[in-house]
This record gives sequence, C-alpha cells and structure tokens, in this order.
Amino acid sequence: MTVTSPPFDVVIVGGGFAGISVAARLRRVRPQLTIAVIEPSQRHFYQPAWTLVGGGAYPIQKTCRSEEALIPSDCTWIRARCVGFEPAQQQVSLEDSNSVRYRILVVAAGLQCNWQQVEGLSETLGKNNVSSNYAYEYAPYTWECLQQYRGGQAVFTQPPAPFKCAGAPQKILYLAADHWRQAGISAELDFYNAASAMFSVPFYSQALDAIMTQYGARAHTGHNLVAVEGATKTAWFALQTPAGPARKSVKFDFLHVVPPQGPPEFIRQSALGDAAGWVSVDKHTLQHLAHENIFALGDCCSAPTSKTAAAVKNQVPVLVENLLCVLDDRPLAGRYDGYASCPLVTSRGKVMLAEFCYDGLVTPSFPLDPRVPRRVNWALKKYFLPRLYWNVILRGYSWPDLHKPRVFPERLPVVPP
Ligand code: FAD
Repeated sequence: MTVTSPPFDVVIVGGGFAGISVAARLRRVRPQLTIAVIEPSQRHFYQPAWTLVGGGAYPIQKTCRSEEALIPSDCTWIRARCVGFEPAQQQVSLEDSNSVRYRILVVAAGLQCNWQQVEGLSETLGKNNVSSNYAYEYAPYTWECLQQYRGGQAVFTQPPAPFKCAGAPQKILYLAADHWRQAGISAELDFYNAASAMFSVPFYSQALDAIMTQYGARAHTGHNLVAVEGATKTAWFALQTPAGPARKSVKFDFLHVVPPQGPPEFIRQSALGDAAGWVSVDKHTLQHLAHENIFALGDCCSAPTSKTAAAVKNQVPVLVENLLCVLDDRPLAGRYDGYASCPLVTSRGKVMLAEFCYDGLVTPSFPLDPRVPRRVNWALKKYFLPRLYWNVILRGYSWPDLHKPRVFPERLPVVPP
C-alpha cells in the first residue's frame, strides 16, 4: 500500500457537479491550496437534460464532456475509485490499495441507481419498450419508444424517496402525453408512484394533480415497482391493501422506469454514513457530525432536501466558506437553507419552476406564481441552466441568489400545461 505524502490540503471524492464545483471555487478563492479530486470516470454528465433527451428535445451528446476538460488543471486528478475512509488517519483508501491523505475531506460521490432491485429490469431495459431517462445509455431509447408508440397502455413509475430530481419521473409522462396529443395518438396514461402525493411540497403537488387531470392521466399512489417481465410486457408492483401487503400486475405497451436509488455502497458501509447510509452532515453547515475536517454535499449527503443540481449550486459556496473557516480556525459562517429547485416540464414548451427550502418553504426567485407553467421557464431549462452549469458553477464562479419566501393566494390558478 502507498500513502501520498505530504497530505493534500483538500481531497474531494467524486468529480461530478458537486466535486468539481467545489474544486473550482476553492481554486478561485484560495489558489495556494493543494487539491486532489478522486474520480474514476473519464466522462462527466449533465444529467438534468436527460429528461429533455427522453422527450426528444435535447441531443444526448451535449450532456457529456470529458472529466479532463473540467477538473481544474492545477488540481491533481486521481483516476481511481475510493473504497473507504479512515478518518482517524485522515486518509481515504482507493481500490488499487493506495491511500490518499488530507487535511480536509469533501465527499461528493453522488448516489447509486439500484437497477438490480427491480427483478428482471436489467435484462429488458433498452428493449421491449422499457426505458429510463436515469441513464445516459437509455434516455435516447425513451424518445425512440415515444415516436414508435401507436396507442395502448403507457406506464410511468416513481420509486420510494429519495431519488435524484423529485420531478423527473412525472416530467417524462407530461412530455410523452404532449407529444402523443400533438401526434393525434390517444394514450392510456398511468403513473405508479411509491409515494402518497405527486410532490413533497403540497403547494406544488396540487398544481401537478391538475396537470395530470388535464392529460387524462391516472395517478396511483403507494405502488412500488418490484419486477418487470419484458417478454410479456408486464410490470409488478408491491402495495399495501387493507388485507396486508400485496402484488399487482399491470400490462404495458410502453414502460418508463425510475430505478430505486440509495447511497453509494462504500459510503453506506463506512463510519461516515448515517443510519440510511448517507454521509451524515449538519443540514445547515454541511460539516460531518463527528469529524470537523470532513464535509459532504450533493446527492450523497444527508441534508434532507431534494437531490438536485440546483441544491448543489447553493451548497457549494456554503461548503467552501465553512471549509476555509476550519482551515483558518474560525467559527463556521456559511449556512445552507435547504434550497432546491425542480423545473417541472409540463409540456414541450412550458415549465413549472418549483423552488423551495427545508420544510417545504416556498421560495421562488421571481414574484410570479410559480405554479403556473411558463414558456420563459422552458427557455431557462433548455438554454440557460446548462450554461449556468458548465460555464459558471463548474468553473467556480458565483451566481446571484434571488430566492426568498413569497406568499401567493391559496386558490390554485389556472395551470394549462
Ligand atoms: P453526480 O453529478 O452524480 O456526481 C457523482 C460523481 O461521483 C460521479 O462523477 C461519480 O463517477 C463519482 N463517484 C461515484 N462513486 C465514486 C467513488 N467510489 N470514488 C470516487 N468517485 C466516485 N437536478 C436539477 O437540479 N434539475 C433537474 O431538472 C434535474 N433533473 C434530473 C433528471 C435526471 C434524469 C437525473 C438522473 C438527474 C436530475 N437532476 C436534476 C439531479 C442532478 O443531476 C444531481 O442532483 C446532481 O448531478 C448531483 O451532483 P453530485 O455531484 O452530487 O452527483
């Protein structure tokens, strides 16, 4: 085993949106720090556009860039998989049995999609009209299926929370429904949702119920996809009935699956994880609850907010500020309020921009009723947010933050999708 010596000032595990953004921002505010990014993949993905890819509104190629082009050139890229943490020795271990030492550790390893938890799914994904926008390989197949569909049962699933982007499972239903409506194809639309509502924030959930109704889509709550038989085009759901747990089979002509998701296995098995396996951090400071020189952000951390790139955007400056406070031996000054945002694509051309903070506090950036799907938000989702991601946040620049609590009439406005 080789141990790097001397230690890096900062070691970042994961070169996704969170990891690279932290590295780039640290580079700008404290250029003299030695920084290592541990990332095994050569490719970096802009995942938020995969919904649009599945809806035929975005080229898949534009969602992938090389890690090499994104990791700041004066940071050390360690192209390896991290397999464990040794906080007492201030080092992390790699799969090649080497270890890397740090003064401060940032864990930003994302989450893992547990495809194998749905029996038969891996065997049929990408064929038999079974697709998922949750993988670079399959999002284009969703659009192929939507184009080939000539009617019949279209089934969309949502797994138990947490999973990336709380709105993505239903966004593809709206894009499909809109596409088929425009093409004059009559579709039977069913949304099988493991949760009890369309969205965790009731303010937005009510508006989404109205969108579903306008598409004639049926929402089934408490249904968790557990198996798929591609050959017979049958999906199996686990549910609770008054008589106890039950299984229900549903025939489909098209099936869009969102896989169950959870913390990366190496974090779940480590001493850094909470009971569920997420890196256990203070939800406001993003500092580890047991180790003051360890921070985490993004999908892998325990902060109880929606796992989105929007959340990462607001976590990065807080984490960097607090990390510098630890290095400088000052009290932590940065505070994350749980901000997350979900651009709920309600048709090809309109988006309901759901913005919220911890405890479901509605905090839009603009003083317009956010429940109304708007064309301007489509332009934001398709053109502005990718640029903000690649050119601003990933490069370590800051962006003005306009969100704040705002009050709107309780009565639901008209929400044509
Ligand atoms: P990631 O960007 O996933 O990066 C994690 C990195 O860690 C990866 O590079 C991975 O290779 C690396 N890694 C993993 N294991 C290890 C290891 N053992 N050692 C070292 N490195 C490791 N967000 C929005 O804000 N708006 C949206 O509309 C939206 N829509 C979405 C739609 C879909 C279909 C999907 C899949 C996601 C969507 N998201 C959206 C969510 C958003 O993409 C994620 O929340 C965001 O990418 C999280 O960033 P992250 O850095 O935590 O994780």
